[in-house]
Order: sequence, then structure tokens, then C-alpha cells
Amino acid sequence: MFEFELRPILHILLHIAVPVAVARLFWPAYWKRAAAWMLAGWLIDIDHLLADPIYAPGRCSIGFHPLHTWPAIAAYGALTVPRRTRWLGVGLLIHIVLDAIDCVLM
Ligand SMILES: [Zn+2]
Repeated sequence: MFEFELRPILHILLHIAVPVAVARLFWPAYWKRAAAWMLAGWLIDIDHLLADPIYAPGRCSIGFHPLHTWPAIAAYGALTVPRRTRWLGVGLLIHIVLDAIDCVLM
């Protein structure tokens, strides 16, 4: 569907564009703070450091890296319930969805 080199670049762009777009759409009054929290959802990619190689273009993150497994995803869903952690929870779920889309495109 996409050129081999294009997909990782698109993936990174979506990881920035989607949280910002969601923040602007749902929390227009303080979208910058909302977007910052959602971009923090990217931090779960530190689990890639446990893998060897750290980045493999043909590998699906979901279900492979510890912070991309179903128990972790359920915890991110729970984070969206309390107001205080909602932005982070939403950001983490966006991250998982984007990673999942990437798996489908492989
Ligand atoms: Zn990821």
C-alpha cells in the first residue's frame, strides 16, 4: 500500500498529528496542555529498548513489546476514566491504535 521507506515516516507524522488534532477537537480551550499529555503517550515506546533489534520495520509492536500488550492496553483504558489521567490515557490509546494501523499496513 505504501512505499517501504514512506511507512515509518508516515507513522511518526501520525504519532504527532493525531494527538494534536484530537486535542484541538475535544479540548480547544486548552489544547496545548492536552496535546502535551497525549504526546507523552509516546513514552511507552521505551519498551522497544528491551527488544533486539530495537527497531525492526516489519515487526508489529502490538503484542510484542511489554507496554504494547493487552494487559497494558487495558490499563491505558482505565487511565481515561479519572479526569486527572484522562489525557495521558487517551494519548496512550491513540498510540496503540496508530501502532495497530501500522501492523495492518505491513
Ligand atoms: Zn509504539
